Amino acid sequence: SQMGRAFAYVILGGGVAAGYAALEFARHRDGGVSPGELCIISDEAVAPYERPALSKGYLLPRGAARLPGFHTCVGANDELLTEQWYKDHGIELVLATRVVSADLQQKTLLTNTGETISYGTLIVATGARASKLEEFGVTGSDAANVCYLRSLKDADKMVGVMRSCHGGNAVVIGGGYIGMECAAALVANEIKVTMVFPGKRCMDRFFTPKIAEFYEKYYAAKGVTFIKGARVTSLEASDGRVAAAILRDGRRLPADMVVVGVGARANAGLFDGQLAMEKGGIRVNGRMQTSDYAVYAVGDVAAFPVALLGGQVRRFEHVDCARRTARRAVAAILEPADGAAEQGKKGYDYLPFFYSRVFGLSWQFYGDNVGEAVHFGDFSPGSGHATAKFVVLWVSGGRVSGAFIEGGSREENEETAGAVRRGASVAEVAAELLSRGLAFADQE
Ligand code: FAD
Repeated sequence: SQMGRAFAYVILGGGVAAGYAALEFARHRDGGVSPGELCIISDEAVAPYERPALSKGYLLPRGAARLPGFHTCVGANDELLTEQWYKDHGIELVLATRVVSADLQQKTLLTNTGETISYGTLIVATGARASKLEEFGVTGSDAANVCYLRSLKDADKMVGVMRSCHGGNAVVIGGGYIGMECAAALVANEIKVTMVFPGKRCMDRFFTPKIAEFYEKYYAAKGVTFIKGARVTSLEASDGRVAAAILRDGRRLPADMVVVGVGARANAGLFDGQLAMEKGGIRVNGRMQTSDYAVYAVGDVAAFPVALLGGQVRRFEHVDCARRTARRAVAAILEPADGAAEQGKKGYDYLPFFYSRVFGLSWQFYGDNVGEAVHFGDFSPGSGHATAKFVVLWVSGGRVSGAFIEGGSREENEETAGAVRRGASVAEVAAELLSRGLAFADQE
C-alpha cells in the first residue's frame, strides 16, 4: 500500500456537517489551521455543499442553483466555502476518495486508493444514504430513468432525466420529504406526477391528518395524483429503461421516469463493533463524543441526548442538526474545558428544527410531536394559492412540546420556536395565535 498521511484532525465525510465543522475550526484558529493539521475525506468529487438545495433550487427549470453558489456555509447566511477557501485556510480536501475501513485501535483509515490516513481526533460525518428499492424486494434501481436523490451526482442524473421527460409521466415512490419535494420539482418541470406510498397520508410519521390533507389538496390542485395505501412491487423495464411501475394490486402505472424516496440509513457501518450504536447511528454524548474518546460523530449519523427532551437520545436527519452538532463537536474538541462537560451529561441543548419548501409553500417545525395536536388557522385554501397560514401545536402536560407553522413570517417562526424552547403554556400560545387572527380549526 501507499505511504500514509497523518493529521491531528480528520473529518470523515464531506457533506453539510463537514463544511460547518471546517468553518468552526478556522474561526477557532484565527483564520486557519496549520498545514497537515486538518483534512476532510469525501467520496464526493466536490467541496461540501448545502444538500437541501438538491431537491429545491437545483431542480428548478429556470435559474437553477449550481455550484459554487451553494457550497456550505451559505445556508446559514455565512461564508461560502469554495475549494479555494479550504486551500487558503490550510485545510486539506481529499475528494473523490472513499474510506473503506477504519481501525480505531491504530487510529487509521484506509481509503479505496490504498492510502492509510491516520488521525489524532476523528470526526465522523458520513451522513446517510438513500434506501434502495432492492431493500424492499423491488429490482430496477439501476435503470437509466430511475432516480434517487442524495448526492450532487444523483441530482445531475435527475436533471438530465427530467429534461428528457418533458410533458411525460413520473411515478414518485414514497410520501416523505424527498417524495414531496421531488414531486413539486417535477410539476415545475412540466412532468405529470403520480405519487405512490404505503401510508394513509403523506409524511405520515409526522404530519397530522389535517396537515397532510392540506398539502395533498394543494398538490392535487397542481395536478399531482396520489395513490395511497399502495406499494410498488416491481418495475417493468426494457433496454435498461423503466416503462411502468406495477402495484401490488396489479395496477400498472406508465412511467417515463421514476423517482424513489423511500427513506435513508445512517452510514455507520464502518464502525460496527467498534463504537456504541443507537437509533441506527453512532451513539455520542452531549459533546458529540463517541464511546471512543478520540472519535466524535456529527450530523445524520449521530444519535445524541437532547437536553430539551429530558436527555432522550435522538438521531435527526435534518440540516440544522448537522450544522449545530458539527459546531458543537469542534468547540468541544478545541475547548475541552469550556464548561460544557456538565451539560454533556444531560444532553446537548438543541431544539429540534425541520423545514421544507415546496411550490410557494414553506413550513417549519420545532420540538417534538408528542401529545395532543391542536390546530389553528385556515386549512382549506383555494386551489393552489400560496397564502395559507396555519399553526399546529403539540401539547403535553399543558405545555407546548412541538409546533408546526406554515406560511409564517420570520418573526412568527422565531416566536414559535421560542414558545417551544421555553415550554410555554398552551393557553399563552393559543391566546397569542387567536390575537393574530388564527382561529381554532375543527379537528376532523
Ligand atoms: P451529508 O450531508 O449526507 O454528508 C455525508 C458525506 O459523507 C457525503 O459527502 C458522503 O458522500 C460522505 N461519505 C459517506 N461515507 C463515506 C466514506 N466511507 N468515505 C468517504 N466519504 C463518505 N434537511 C432539512 O432540514 N430540510 C430540508 O429541506 C432538507 N432537504 C434535503 C433534501 C435532500 C435532497 C436531501 C438528500 C437531504 C435534505 N435534508 C434536509 C437533510 C440534510 O441534507 C441532511 O440532514 C444533512 O445533509 C446531513 O449532513 P451530514 O454532513 O450529516 O451528511
